[in-house]
Amino acid sequence: MPHLRPWFALVLLALLASCQSQPGNGKRSTYGDRPGPQGFKTVIVDAGHGGKDSGARARGLVEKQLALDVAKRLRSELWPGFKVVLMRESDRFVELDSRVSIANRYPDAILVSIHFNYGSRRRAGPETYYWRSDSYALAKRVQRNLSAVAPYESGNAGLVRRRLRLTRNPSIPCILVECGYLTHASEARLVATSSYREKLADAIAKAIRDQSTYGDAGMGPIPRPIYAPPSRAGDARG
Ligand SMILES: [Zn+2]
Repeated sequence: MPHLRPWFALVLLALLASCQSQPGNGKRSTYGDRPGPQGFKTVIVDAGHGGKDSGARARGLVEKQLALDVAKRLRSELWPGFKVVLMRESDRFVELDSRVSIANRYPDAILVSIHFNYGSRRRAGPETYYWRSDSYALAKRVQRNLSAVAPYESGNAGLVRRRLRLTRNPSIPCILVECGYLTHASEARLVATSSYREKLADAIAKAIRDQSTYGDAGMGPIPRPIYAPPSRAGDARG
């Protein structure tokens, strides 16, 4: 029945078009076993800790305050090119699992959680944590850019694949950034200045913009997915 062929072709085309999805974008994924995001326009910025949870305290600095400051600077850096959702805008406690649920309301977004680190006195420098394959390139870009602005690096872990609640459990690409060690005398002095915190926010923002523009291009081989269960409260941070 030759008269049906154009119909058939049209239906086939429509089916193909509907099946084509942009890689790593526009859909939730439990394991993140897909390419990294490209073309995203929404960034969820999570300031670590808050309220009753101060996070690290060292050398007169309080992690929850610094994390919120960098989160707000990051929002300013990204706007208006991106829609930015702040997980908290004030000194407020938010459960980790609530942060995961909030992130999952935005299927086309990425999540960046901002922290500062605590360790031995000689440790210094940024660390970036990821777990999912679709978060690797973003994490690598963030770590590279932060490393370029951090003058002290000593005994820091750099780019780390670790199953944390905010690197494993959201169904969108997600990373956790430790911007520096509050326990290191020189790094703490820098982190205490607004100009350095602005540099940190700028470095993270550039990485986010590059990821949205280029996807995983130029970031080398993407690590294979690991099909591990969600991270729970009792899990060791490692
Ligand atoms: Zn923290």
